This record gives sequence, structure tokens and C-alpha cells, in this order.
Amino acid sequence: MSDQANSESAKPTIPLPDTAHYRRETRLVHSGSLRSQFGETSEAIFLTQGFVYDSAEQCEARFTGDDAGFQYSRFSNPTVFSFEQRMAEFEGAEAARATATGMAAVTAAILAPLRAGDHVVASKAMFGSCRYIVEDLCPRYGIESTLVDGLDLDQWQAAMRPNTKTCFLESPTNPTLDVLDIAAIAEIAHAGGARLVVDNVFATPIWQSPLKLGADVVVYSATKHIDGQGRCLGGVVLSSTAFIEEHVQMYLRQTGPSLSPFNAWVLLKGLETLSIRVEKQTSNAAAIADALAGHAKVPRLVYPGRADHPQAATVKKQMGAGSTLVGFEVTGGKAGAFRVLNALKLVKISNNLGDAKSLVTHPATTTHQRLKPEARAELGISDGFIRLSVGLEHKDDLIEDLLAALQKA
Ligand SMILES: *Cc1c(COP(=O)(O)O)cnc(C)c1O
Repeated sequence: MSDQANSESAKPTIPLPDTAHYRRETRLVHSGSLRSQFGETSEAIFLTQGFVYDSAEQCEARFTGDDAGFQYSRFSNPTVFSFEQRMAEFEGAEAARATATGMAAVTAAILAPLRAGDHVVASKAMFGSCRYIVEDLCPRYGIESTLVDGLDLDQWQAAMRPNTKTCFLESPTNPTLDVLDIAAIAEIAHAGGARLVVDNVFATPIWQSPLKLGADVVVYSATKHIDGQGRCLGGVVLSSTAFIEEHVQMYLRQTGPSLSPFNAWVLLKGLETLSIRVEKQTSNAAAIADALAGHAKVPRLVYPGRADHPQAATVKKQMGAGSTLVGFEVTGGKAGAFRVLNALKLVKISNNLGDAKSLVTHPATTTHQRLKPEARAELGISDGFIRLSVGLEHKDDLIEDLLAALQKA
């Protein structure tokens, strides 16, 4: 372990391994490890609420920040800190803060820096709970919001107001897998004096780095690919040290959506295998997309890795590869989609994604049920639309299961 400082500030810091110069896969395995005096190979789980001090003086110094270390696990914890450091180094962010769920991360990134009188612009096509934060929750506290068609740069431009402080988007979008031009939207946000927050869950940190494209804040639901094996909820906010210290740190510390040290440990282990899992899930998804494209029962198929994706040029510009998700519409509307879901034997029906197990969702009756039918139609979520999260099974078993089920559409 080197005694490399983990921030630029003059404050004392906890010593971390010097891994920043390694390639990305190496950093996923080693960054942020805090090895105890026992020299354990795997990261320890510090399942503790609090910490004891050698003296009253040390305790005082811990509270003033003159002594590096931990005070209480709602504020910070060694295992959670390890996870944050590994995420920050991998994403190329100055700082990261972990949260209990992805929604706690999204809520902190959006609400923490805003106050009554501010304005938010967001892309309409987003995860249902994110839309609730922007569309329903923010206005209750005097923060107005405007929803735009995220693909239309003119709409982003037109929605900007002098009091617009935050622009928010996810890309690819849930569930229709539209790909928004992050660099262009960052430029519009910055020209209007606003920050851009990107929910990067669908792209994963493997295939897309929003901070490098000009975004100011990135959020993840670690529940998805970062765990990747269906066990724990978690989230993370990544940004500059200034944004985290000024806006996020105190908000999380005092409101308390803290990540459990146990979950942080599971997520740390998840990061070790993230790149091989996401690469395999993506190649499986690409094979499935090719097998379903042009099928008589599939009038529409959306996969960001295919040349026929409507934003193929943007995909090429900002993503390393397609996606672990495939979207497709089947014939027969809701009844047709339900028949297909019920006929699947290997692929499970679940509203989750990013798992080792392939999972299928009918967005119109689950994740996007809350929206009015017109709002769903506007987003391209037809009654026959199915979202498939591709897992780690053999691609041919998945294709055989899907093709057999499609006979029922
Ligand atoms: C799942 C998800 C979230 C919320 O994450 P939780 O961990 O379930 O709170 C937010 N955004 C996107 C795009 C998601 O897929």
C-alpha cells in the first residue's frame, strides 16, 4: 500500500493502493482495497455501526477532520469507502458517494444541489421512479421541471431558462433503448449555466463514460450490472470533489440513505467480474438481436449495437459497444406479449435487469404502468413491447427459448 493521498485537499487521508496508472480491468480488481493488519486477500467486511478512538483528543480530531478515519457508518465506513474509491477510479471521477439504492443516488444528484425557484430539464424517456422525482416530487418543493424529447436537441435548447440548474437524462433509455447525444446535450446545458446529470445504468461503466463526454455527474443503480447476480440494492453518485463536497456529502450524511457495509462488499466483489460479465452479456444480446431481427412475429426490434438502430451514429460516437438489453415488439399487442412471456422456459419474467439470469419485462404493465396511455405511446412503449435483459447463459439456449416462445405471439 502506498501512502498516496486520495484527494487533493490538505486534509489527512486514508492510504490507498496506487492503481490509477493501471488499465481499466486491473483497476476493477484492485482499486480502493484497504488491507487490514491481517493482510487478507479478499476485502474485509467492516460490519460495524461505529468506531472507537484511542483518546478523547483523537475523537475530537476525527470530528474536526484533522485525523483521517471513520466516525459512524451513516457518514462513512471502510468497506463502503473501498467501493466508492474503486468506482471513482474506474469511472475517472474525482469523488464518489455510495447510497442504499440507485434511486437514493438519483434523488441526491438531482435534489441535493437545488432549491425552490430552480428549474430542471429532463428527457421524457427514463426509468419510472426517476420520472417521478423530476415530474412530481421536484415541483412540490418549488423546483419546476420541463420534460423534453431527449433525441431532439432543439427541445433541450428551447426548454432552457435563466434559472435552469440541472439537465438530466439516461442513455440508452429505458425501455426503448434510444441513444441520446450526451456531448451535444452537455454543451447546451453548460451554455445555459446548468449541469448535466447522466443515469448511466443501461450503458454500464464498461461501455460509456459520461464524464468524458462532458457530463458533470454520473449516477448508477449498482443493483443492476455492478452486483449483476441479483443480491443487493445499491447506488453511487460520481462527480468532481467540489460537487460532492458542496452538495452531496452533507445531504447524504444528514438524510441517511447509507449503503450497508455488507452490500458494499458484495458490490466490490461484483466490480471484480464486471467487465467479463458485461462483455459476455453484450455479445449474447447482439446474437439474440440478430436472431430476432426480421422475425415474422417481431415487427420492431431495437438494439443499440446494430447498424439499423435509429441513432447508430451516436452509438458509434459515444459507446464502446451495444448494450446488454434488447427491446422488441411482438404481434398481438398485450395478449401477444403475455403469451410470449408465459411460454418462455429459460428466460424469467422479472422487472430487474443486468442479472446473470436473462430476464424479460413487459414495460406497459409494470415499470411504465403509472404513465397515461398517451405518455406511453409518445415514448414508443406499445402494448406489444418487451424488454429483455440478457444474462450469462449460452446464447443458443436463449435464442431457442425465445424463438419457441415467439410462436405463441
Ligand atoms: C433500476 C434503475 C434505477 C433505480 O435503481 P434502484 O437500485 O432500484 O433504486 C434508476 N435508473 C435506472 C436506469 C434503473 O435501471
